[in-house]
Amino acid sequence: MSLQDTLKSLILDVPGFPAPPVVFKDITPLLQDGGAFNALIEHWVERYKGEAVTQVVGIESRGFIFGAALAARMGVGLTLIRKPGKLPRETVSREYALEYGTDVLHIHKDALTPDDRVLIIDDVLATGGTAAAAIELVSASGATVVETTFLMELDFLGGLAKLGENAVYSVLHY
Ligand code: AMP
Repeated sequence: MSLQDTLKSLILDVPGFPAPPVVFKDITPLLQDGGAFNALIEHWVERYKGEAVTQVVGIESRGFIFGAALAARMGVGLTLIRKPGKLPRETVSREYALEYGTDVLHIHKDALTPDDRVLIIDDVLATGGTAAAAIELVSASGATVVETTFLMELDFLGGLAKLGENAVYSVLHY
């Protein structure tokens, strides 16, 4: 089986969670499969070899899981982009649109510098608002966004369009 087929077999659709019409992509079986989890991280390691990435930026909360594993394997740091009220020191924030209402993401003001080459990571690219806000936060620091990567992209939601000219790589497409 290809890596993609193996990973897809370990991601379960949960219709109506947390509320209709969302079909939630449950990655917990993938995380519980040590071989598949490792193969996924190694796939990303291969892709970003030679890109001189200095920080992996994980988006709360499932981006932390993949971001932490990948950053440690790459031997680079992990920077956190978090929901309001979680980061203890001075932050920069961006508001972004949800299907109903808005949400906000924060990063520590001193987390990144213009010398950083950043890989942003999250589990799912859906409508794209979350990732667009993360890219804005990283770019505002002067750091270079090497690429924004996702375990999966929900193509039918068109989130890619919100990310403009930024490089995007999704391991899986639905
Ligand atoms: P969006 O801003 O619409 O691209 O939403 C992306 C964020 O919401 C990611 O951090 C995902 O973890 C989460 N998300 C959105 N849709 C789903 C889904 N169908 N299954 C699991 N997580 C989702």
